[in-house]
This record gives sequence, structure tokens and C-alpha cells, in this order.
Amino acid sequence: MSKNNEILDDYAKYYMSNFGKPKLVVQRAFGSRLTDVDGREYIDLLGGIAVNALGHAHPELLRTINVQASQMMHVSNFFTTEPQVKLAKKLAELVDLATGIDGAPGKNNARVLLTNSGTESVEAALKIIKEHANASTGKGKIGPKGRILALNHSFHGRTLGALSVTSKEKYRTPFNPLIPNVEFIDPTIPALKKAFADKSKPVAGIILECIQGEAGVVPIPVQFIQEARKITKNNGALLVVDEVQTGVGRTGRWFAFERAGIVPDVVTLAKGLGGGFPIGAVIALNGTSEILEPGDHGTTFGGNPLACSVALKVLEIIEGERLLQNARSSFDAIVDTFENLENPYIKDIRGKGLLVGIELKTKKGAGSVEVAAKCLENGLIVNNVNESTIRLAPALNITPAELHQGLRILNKSIYQIFDPKNKLGRVYA
Ligand code: PLP
Repeated sequence: MSKNNEILDDYAKYYMSNFGKPKLVVQRAFGSRLTDVDGREYIDLLGGIAVNALGHAHPELLRTINVQASQMMHVSNFFTTEPQVKLAKKLAELVDLATGIDGAPGKNNARVLLTNSGTESVEAALKIIKEHANASTGKGKIGPKGRILALNHSFHGRTLGALSVTSKEKYRTPFNPLIPNVEFIDPTIPALKKAFADKSKPVAGIILECIQGEAGVVPIPVQFIQEARKITKNNGALLVVDEVQTGVGRTGRWFAFERAGIVPDVVTLAKGLGGGFPIGAVIALNGTSEILEPGDHGTTFGGNPLACSVALKVLEIIEGERLLQNARSSFDAIVDTFENLENPYIKDIRGKGLLVGIELKTKKGAGSVEVAAKCLENGLIVNNVNESTIRLAPALNITPAELHQGLRILNKSIYQIFDPKNKLGRVYA
């Protein structure tokens, strides 16, 4: 029996089955390559689902972990540490940079809360919306029945609050009832205006992703995001931008909301922030940074000095190695590659930077599930984010050669699934 199968047998016995059967047992990873326990190598175009921003085992991250772990890993939030405060300051500065005009940073009085994951960041953001609604008084009073708007096809996490603003019925149904007064709308301006027109239950806030990752890497129209900003502001509601997947340079900008030229009230982060080390963040801007008061929220591990040192180093390397630029040029390279390869089974290539959805022209027995499985057989890791779309979210420092090698395997795998007898007579290496 292969070592993979041996370990998978024990996984089936001892691990809860919520993730289904793992596709591989990975033993080690370096840069944009993984090796499984049987010694097979894979190119990694998924980056742990947009997490391994610097690839695997980046030497500077390893050194940072080593140095910080020897000094102090955790002290509790009765205390603070220099890495924690430095990271909060750095994230606040990045938000200022992202909201500036002509190179002059904006001024947002941003304050940060550090968490351990995306869903935990979303929980904190939802608490900010709720507390804002409950504390409102006078003419702009929203109150506890204030609605939270989320978008159809959204994904914000699996804890009960975050699940309440995640639209997929399959994820929600087993856990109903979830938190009340959540309404899902399409990302259109008429839908937005209609939702705000109902004054019997005012809107407390909107949560949205600028690019809906789990929906199949679907960018939300910039005009919608701009209108969401305008209408929330005019109605005393909050705008939360969930950048758990899109933030920290993934889309070729520090934050995906930059393309809409808006200033959100709250931004959630996780995934790429720790480059593989678990950490999340909530950044609250302007008035919202004062909403959570002592005792309103907490976390034991969130903001520990080890995670903060790693995140600071990730941000420093993204800046120093000009990885936002690499993400942007890599997107162009992906589009160019598939244009040159003239693959007739590709319907659309979407996304920004290194968050890419490749939509296939599916037919019976041939779709992204089959293509992703074939890729794995051929030594490439990608994700079938839905039935028709392959998601790529590789390391932001992936080299052009590695990217190209991965794309060629993807191209070959698509042909092997859609044209198994090679009737088109394509030559692919
Ligand atoms: N928000 C968005 C936009 C996400 O894509 C995800 C995870 O995919 C989450 C929240 C939840 O993050 P986590 O899995 O770290 O809890």
C-alpha cells in the first residue's frame, strides 16, 4: 500500500469527515512546489487557497519564526508586544495608502483588531455592524432589527455569524436558524436601492467581497461598490469589505477595494496576511474604529507576537520584492498564455492579479472537477471552485517559468478531459 493510502485510511478513521477525502498527503513544500509522502512532486498554482503569499518555506519567514519563537510566542491580551503594535500600525498605514490620492495617503484614523482566521475577522465585523445599529439614536436610529445586506453567491466563512451572511443554502440549512435580519441581494444598483427603500427595517450594514472567490472568482461591478458606499453613508449604515481572500496584494493591489476608489468602514483580512501562518485582522476606519469598547470582544490567540512578526515580514517582503507588480503582470501572462494556446474549451478568464478563475465550456462528464483531478494526476495543484471554474491563487512570488509550466499542464489536462482521443490533433508537451 502506498504511504498516501496508508495515511488516508487513518484519516478516514480518526478525522471528522467534514472536508471529505483529502486529495493528497503532502509531506513537504518549497517555493511553488509540493511533494507528497510517496515522493511525487507537484506545481502549486493554488497556494493553499490564496494563503501562501510567499510560496512555501520562504527563508526570511523561517528566520523570523525562529527568532520570534525563541524570544516569545504568546503572552495573552492582558499585555501587548512590539510586533502586535507594529503590525496594527502597518495595516493602518496600508489602508491610508490605499485610500490616498495622487500618492498622498488618506487619513482614516484606522485601528486594528488581530484575529486567527477569516471567519473570526468577519465575526468581529458583524459585531461592529450590530453594535453600531444598537447604539444609534435619534433620527438615524437603526436599532436591533437593522438588516444586514449580503450578496447572492457570497462566502464569508463557516462560524454561525459569518455563515449567516454566506449565501449558499447547502452550507446554511443544517444550522438554521442563523442570525436574523440578513437579506441577500444581487449586486445591482436597483436591488441596492430597493433594499434601502424599505424604511420599516433600516439597513445596518452591507458586507461584500469585491471579487467573489468561492462563487467562481467573479468580480463585483465597481459601480455597485461605489453605490454601496454612497448609499450606506447617506443612510447611516456601515460598509464592510471582506478582503479575506482578495487582500494583502492578492489582486495586484494591497486591497481589492482600491479599484472602486472608495473608503470602506471596515475591512476584514486573513489568508495571505500570515503567508501560511494563521492570522487575521479587522481594520476599522474613522468612526467605526471606536465602536468596540473594552469587554465587547476578545480572542486568546489573536495578535500573538509570533503571528504578528510573521505578518509584518510578509508585508515587508511583498513591498520589497515588488510582488503587487508580479501579481498584475502574472495575470496578463495567464491571459496571454491561453490566448496563444487557443484552447477551445475555455470560455472565460476572470479575476485580478493572482486570483484567477478559468471558466470552462462544460459538457456531460467534462468540467472543472474532472480537469482538477486530471491536473493532480499530471502533477499540478489547482482548485475546481465550482462545476465550471478552475481557481488559481498561486504564490505572489511565483516565477514566470513555474507559472508557465503549471499553465501548460492545465492546458494539457483540459484537452485530456474534453478531447480524450485527441481528435483536434493538438500537440501539447
Ligand atoms: N471571507 C472570505 C471572502 C473567504 O474567502 C473566506 C474563506 O475562504 C472566509 C471569509 C473565511 O475564512 P477562514 O476560512 O479563514 O475562516
